[in-house]
Amino acid sequence: METAVVWFRDDLRVEDNPALVDALSATETMVPVYVDDPRQRGDTRYNTMKRGPHRERFRQESLRDLRESLRDRGGELFVREGEPEGVIPQLVETVDAEVVFTQTKPATEEWAVETAVREALPLTVDFYPRWTHTLYHIEDLPTPTEQMNDTFTPWRHEVERESGIRDPIASPENVPMPSSVGAVDPGTIPTLDDSGFEHPPDDDRAVLRFEGGESAGKRRVESYLWEGDHLRTYKQTRNGMLGAEYSSKLSPWLAAGCLSPRWIQQEIERYERERVSNEDTYWLTFELTWRDFFQFQFVKHGRAFFTATGIRDVSKHWSRDRTVFDRWKQGTTGVPFVDANIRELNRTGYMSNRGRQNVASFLTDALGIDWRWGAAYFEERLVDYDVASNWGNWAYQAGVGNDSRDNYFNVLSQAERYDTDAAYVTTWLPELDGLPLEYAHRPWRLSADQQTQYDVELGVDYPAPIIDIETRYSELREQ
Ligand SMILES: Cc1cc2nc3c(=O)[nH]c(=O)nc-3n(C[C@H](O)[C@H](O)[C@H](O)COP(=O)(O)OP(=O)(O)OC[C@H]3O[C@@H](n4cnc5c(N)ncnc54)[C@H](O)[C@@H]3O)c2cc1C
Repeated sequence: METAVVWFRDDLRVEDNPALVDALSATETMVPVYVDDPRQRGDTRYNTMKRGPHRERFRQESLRDLRESLRDRGGELFVREGEPEGVIPQLVETVDAEVVFTQTKPATEEWAVETAVREALPLTVDFYPRWTHTLYHIEDLPTPTEQMNDTFTPWRHEVERESGIRDPIASPENVPMPSSVGAVDPGTIPTLDDSGFEHPPDDDRAVLRFEGGESAGKRRVESYLWEGDHLRTYKQTRNGMLGAEYSSKLSPWLAAGCLSPRWIQQEIERYERERVSNEDTYWLTFELTWRDFFQFQFVKHGRAFFTATGIRDVSKHWSRDRTVFDRWKQGTTGVPFVDANIRELNRTGYMSNRGRQNVASFLTDALGIDWRWGAAYFEERLVDYDVASNWGNWAYQAGVGNDSRDNYFNVLSQAERYDTDAAYVTTWLPELDGLPLEYAHRPWRLSADQQTQYDVELGVDYPAPIIDIETRYSELREQ
């Protein structure tokens, strides 16, 4: 075959990209394209946006970086706005391609678009989706996804025992294009203004300024693993909440496919050979395996992950009180640990894993709000949103998903354990800065005199709590 169209989706990289490399071996020339689908920016049924400004910016930067990489190899990244099922067949015709290579992803909407593109192509054009985004390849799983274990630990033991991780594929040196593209406009990568977003402000308190693109992702690996030498203590620090180095912060690059998990694994193994191999270094592989678990679970359960009753069909009574939900999403519940995390998310697009677990439990266990509202809000705000990781973790936290816990997180004891000196809450809630430690996580215990003394009037400087949280936890304990 002579020409392939390579349709990039959430695989915005040249290193270890099977769709790109397979296209190169099957054809002589290729036309790489990214389709900016307006449906990915629309509203959800939960009254939230599908993609907010942090992730939009990250994606635009990633596209610019990918375009640079392809140009360095003699290629181009063509960018089109529209629905892929319209754009791809049109491009195939313009450049006279015989085949389309692309990434496949297990989530319902992604699959629907993939199917629509396949069906819109003429029968003479082949369509080759490639599995590109997990550590373990789907074809290498010891048990097919339809029968996989829904509990993480036994599933992990099985894959670790019976499967292996493929080596990453080197990036191509050249990206040859057909002469037919000479007259084709490469298209413009949209800016935030084009997409109608306000620019997210830079904030010194942000854990990182997440810059999109494979180059920036590799720089993060360089700085976290190699220069900072942090992997040797990763397991011990990963429950932290302040600063760049308590965890890898690789999630946004993984979610957009700027980095491949297999390439990261190769770096971990190199680190283990050249520096140290211990439980902490293994733990990053362990977390990447958690990520895989949810990806494969989505293949197995599909749409069930988006239902209120989840994959286990658990009926719970969920409240749909908009006012309560709005206070949660604005970070004005009056519970500092929750509000600080949500304000970090709103401002920067990121929240630590510890924070995510706590705010999710607070919304679902303490406030009893429909967990899907929270998941949809995270979908809007997170810079690292990934459909399987997000909805899978939310369902888990709400007690309707995998390994489901029926135990809630007590955000007060969590706060006192993981933010012992209240440095985290006062970073994001400076209005509480002057409070003695014993009140920083429980300001409702301040008497009227103390509120005057410390200059924090509840309901004025900081909200009065949305519920009597201490009583609520006593009730939950008794259930
Ligand atoms: C309610 C909730 C929603 C979440 N939504 C997302 C999401 O949309 N996108 C996302 O990437 N992660 C999500 N996570 C998982 C986890 O919180 C983030 O991956 C992690 O905080 C990202 O920071 P990091 O890269 O420094 O993680 P690290 O601790 O350094 O972990 C390394 C990588 O392992 C993967 N990983 C770690 N923990 C998990 C996990 N529990 N589930 C799946 N993958 C994991 C991520 O790719 C991460 O980048 C969610 C967790 C919860 C509790």
